[in-house]
Amino acid sequence: MTGVDRDPNIVDAGHGIHVVDTGYMRPRLAASHIVIDGDRAAIVDTGAAPAAPHILAALGTLGIARGEVEYLLLTHVHLDHAGGAGQLMAALPNARAVLHPRGAPHLVDPTKLIAGSIQVYGEQKFRELYGEILPLPADRVLTVQDKERIRLGRRTFEFLDTPGHARHHYCAVDLDHRVIFSGDTFGVSYREFDTAAGPFVFPTTTPVQFDPQALHASIDRLLTYRPERIALTHYGPVGDIERLAADLHECIDEFVRIARRHAADPQRPARIAADMYRFLDERLDQHGFAGDDARRHELLDSDVDLNTQGLDVWLRKV
Ligand SMILES: [Zn+2]
Repeated sequence: MTGVDRDPNIVDAGHGIHVVDTGYMRPRLAASHIVIDGDRAAIVDTGAAPAAPHILAALGTLGIARGEVEYLLLTHVHLDHAGGAGQLMAALPNARAVLHPRGAPHLVDPTKLIAGSIQVYGEQKFRELYGEILPLPADRVLTVQDKERIRLGRRTFEFLDTPGHARHHYCAVDLDHRVIFSGDTFGVSYREFDTAAGPFVFPTTTPVQFDPQALHASIDRLLTYRPERIALTHYGPVGDIERLAADLHECIDEFVRIARRHAADPQRPARIAADMYRFLDERLDQHGFAGDDARRHELLDSDVDLNTQGLDVWLRKV
């Protein structure tokens, strides 16, 4: 695997799992995981459409022929996770896209998904970040129910219905290696925030299906599998799972408190964003993160903005 050593955008995480930077927004923000088992491969979350050439190049670097990719495991249909699936399906002749039954229709006909994303990001930023969203051929889409399993080479993945971040979200458990691919269900943990205390994590409450009770339950459910590592799309595999789960529970509760506190305020989004930033900023201090204000803003602002939008939408429903 000398090619891998030379490519800083591919990290070998062991057990045939490779972390590929999709190049979304900034380095090490969004990962795609390429799982290789014998002469079979699966791609867990593809990244947005502009990432498709990087993913195809990474397959080449890893020595995987295009016909050997059996599955695209798409944890949910948010475009930083699945936006590039159409391009990859066109390039990977034997691949099937595996989706939650609630998510699949939105990639077979992405009209609503595109409209919803333009609402969140605005037309110009949408085009920049996501490019063209190609529909998936319906006959190559496989939907999986809760606890359904598929095999890749010698390993077995079990799929768990994990609402909370989105209702159409599954997590994929690699039963043979005690790794769970969590999409956005186990929050985001940027490697830049790693300190002697380990990884730093917080939840993602992106519009429009955040559900705090469901998210608490989904996180607890992941723990029942006693994972050694959880591989997050944002960003890569983390250990120290019990502590991170506790952190996530605390953060979800605090985000909800912040949202409720400002529910009736005409300046609600700005107030929620300010409080959320302050809260995360303090937690970063406690975590021993040494980065200055500019660095913190650089790494937190886009999530604080998205989380605020998601809480704002949630408040309209409660
Ligand atoms: Zn998401």
